[in-house]
Amino acid sequence: MKDKRFYDFLHRQILVLIFLSLLPGLGYLFLGWLNGVFVPAFVWYLLIVAVSIWGRQLYRNFDFGTMSERRREGWYRQCTWFIYAFFLLWMLIFLLYVGQSATKLHYIAIFTEIGASVVASSLLASDKRLFRPTIFLLMVPLIVYFLLIGEWYGHVLSLFAATLTWVLLYSANSTHQLLMKASHQATHDALTSLYNRQYFIEHLQQRMNSLGESGEYSYLLLIDLDHFKTVNDSLGHDVGDRLLQSVVARLEQQIPENCVVARLGGDEFIITGSDFSDRQACEQAALDISERLVVGLKEPYIVDQHHLYISASIGASIISGRCANANRFIKEADIAMYEVKAKGRDGVFMFNEEMASRVEGNLEIERLLHFALSDGEITLHYQPQLNRDGRVIGAEALVRWHSPILGEIPPTRFIPIAEHTGLIVELGNHILETGFRTLRAWHDAGIELDQFSLNISMRQFTHHAFAAQVEKLVQRHLDQVLARKLMFEITESIVAEDIQRVILVMKRLKTLGIRFSMDDFGTGYSSLSYLNRLPLDEIKIDRAFVSALGLNEGDRAMVTTILNMAGILKLNIVAEGVETSEQLDFLLQHGCQFFQGYYFSRPLPQEQFESYFSSRSGTPSGL
Ligand code: C2E
Ligand code: CA
Ligand code: CA
Repeated sequence: MKDKRFYDFLHRQILVLIFLSLLPGLGYLFLGWLNGVFVPAFVWYLLIVAVSIWGRQLYRNFDFGTMSERRREGWYRQCTWFIYAFFLLWMLIFLLYVGQSATKLHYIAIFTEIGASVVASSLLASDKRLFRPTIFLLMVPLIVYFLLIGEWYGHVLSLFAATLTWVLLYSANSTHQLLMKASHQATHDALTSLYNRQYFIEHLQQRMNSLGESGEYSYLLLIDLDHFKTVNDSLGHDVGDRLLQSVVARLEQQIPENCVVARLGGDEFIITGSDFSDRQACEQAALDISERLVVGLKEPYIVDQHHLYISASIGASIISGRCANANRFIKEADIAMYEVKAKGRDGVFMFNEEMASRVEGNLEIERLLHFALSDGEITLHYQPQLNRDGRVIGAEALVRWHSPILGEIPPTRFIPIAEHTGLIVELGNHILETGFRTLRAWHDAGIELDQFSLNISMRQFTHHAFAAQVEKLVQRHLDQVLARKLMFEITESIVAEDIQRVILVMKRLKTLGIRFSMDDFGTGYSSLSYLNRLPLDEIKIDRAFVSALGLNEGDRAMVTTILNMAGILKLNIVAEGVETSEQLDFLLQHGCQFFQGYYFSRPLPQEQFESYFSSRSGTPSGL
C-alpha cells in the first residue's frame, strides 16, 4: 500500500543515496588513478554525477500534497529507475575493479559490493519491487566471481555470499512486513478494519488533485447512524461494537467496488465514489447509492440474540478540484447530514448552496446571540394555561429575541444554536432569573398562579452546575411557596442522556418543590418504562396531535390514549396548541384538565398577561 509515509520515506532516501554515492565515489576515482584505470573510473564518476542530478530533480519534483495519483505513480516509476540506475553503477564499479590484476582492488571491490547490498536491503526495505532486484543485481556477480576463482575457498566464499544474499533478502522482507503492519495500523481503524480519518483525508486530497487535473466530479457520502448511543448505553459497548461491525459488513456489500470507505470515528462513516465527467450524473449516482444504503442499513441486525434496528442519516456532497481543502467537502457533507438529522433522521440530503447560506445565517445568529444577552435583547413572553373552568391557573414562559440587526428571531431558530454552542447554559440561566423575577412580581401584585412553567433545554439540564444554579436563583428570588409553583418542562430527548443522572438531578430539584412536565409528548421515541421511571408530574400533549384532531382518526386515538395513560399514571395533562372550539370540545369530552393555545391567548408580554389574568379572574365563566 502506497500512502504518504511510503512516499515520504522514498523521497528522503533519494538524498541519502546521492550522498552515499557522490562522496565515496571520489575515493574510487582516486583508487582508479592510483591503479591506472582513471579514465573508466572517471567516466563512472561522471555517470554517478549525472544520475545524482536526475535524483535531485526527482527530489524537487515531489510534493505529495498537490500531486495527483497519476502523477505520483509516474514519479514513483521514475524513482524506481533512478534507484536501479544507482545500484547498477555500483555493480559496474565492482566489475571494473574486480577485473583488474591488483589484488587490493579485489578486496575493495568485494567490500563495495557487500556494502552496497547491505545499504540496499536496509534503505529499500519499504518496497519489494526495489530491494529484491537490487540485492540480486549486486550479489549474483559476487557469487559468480567467487565461483570463478576455482579454488576450494572460492566455493566456500561463494556459498557464504549466497547465504548472505538470502539473509539480506530475509531481513529486508521482515522489515518490509513490519512496515506494512505499522502502516496498516496507522491508516486503519482497529474495530472495523476500515481506513481511518487521517488516511481518508489524505486520500481525499489526492482525489481532489486528480479531479482538478481531469475536470471530473466525484461524490462524498457521510453516514451517521441514528441513536447509536442508545444501543451502547442500553446494551453495552460490546454489543455496540459488534453492531458497528455488522453495519460495516453491510455497507461494504452495498457500495460499488471502486468506492473507498473510512470510519471517521464513533458511528460515523464516509465514502468516496468513482469519477464522473457529468456533475448531474454524479449527483444522481450519489443519491441512488445513498437511498439504497438508507434502506439496506435499516434491515434488522441480530447481535447476541438481540434484534437491533438502526437507521442512518446520510449527507452527500459533490467533490471536484475546485477547492484546495479536503475538509471543506467533508464539512459540506456534514451540513447536509445535519439537515437530515434535523428533519427527523433516516434519510439522505445532497448539500446545496441554500444549506450553506443557512449555516452562514446560523453563524451570524451565533455571533449576535453573544451580545443579545448582555444588551438586554432577550425577553420573556407568557402564555396562559387554563383549567376546565376557564380560570388562568398557570403560565408558560417563552423566550423572545428581538435583534436590532436581524429583527424578530423565533426560539425554534436560536435555541438549537445556543444548545449547539453551549451558550444555552448562560441563556438558560438568564431565562430562569427573568422568569423567577416575574413570578415574584406577580405574587407581590396578587396574581396567584398554580404553576409557572419554564422550558429547560437538555443541554442546560445536563450541565453539571444546573441544579446548584437553580438552587442559588431560587434562594435569591423566591421562597418555598413560590418554588412549589415552578414546573420545568423537559423533552423526551432527555431520555437519550444518562437516565440515572437525569433522575438524580430531578430528585434533587424536587426537594425544592419544583415539578416536572414532559413537553411535546408523543413526538419523541421515549418508552413507557422511561415515563414511569422519571419523577414526572405533568404531560403536555404536543400541538401536532391537537391540531390534527379534526382531521385524523389516528391522532384522535393518540390523544385519547395519552389522556387515559396520564390518568392511570396520575399525571396532570396539558393540551398545548388549542386553536379551535372543536379541538377544545374534544379535549373537554375526553377529560383533559388544562389547556393552552391561541384559542385563548398567544404568549403575551408581562403586562398584557397581567391584564389577561385580571379579565379572566373573578367568577369563573367557563371555557
Ligand atoms: P414549546 O415548548 O412546545 O412551546 C410552545 C410553542 O407553541 C410556542 O412557540 C408557542 O408560541 C406556540 N404555541 C402556543 N399555542 C399555540 C397555538 O395555538 N398554535 C400554534 N401554532 N402555536 C402555538 P415558541 O414560543 O415559538 O417556542 C417554540 C419552541 O422554542 C418551544 O416549544 C420550546 O421548545 C422552545 N423555547 C421557547 N422558549 C424557550 C425557553 O425559554 N427555553 C428553552 N430551552 N426553549 C424554549
Ligand atoms: Ca414548552
Ligand atoms: Ca411543546
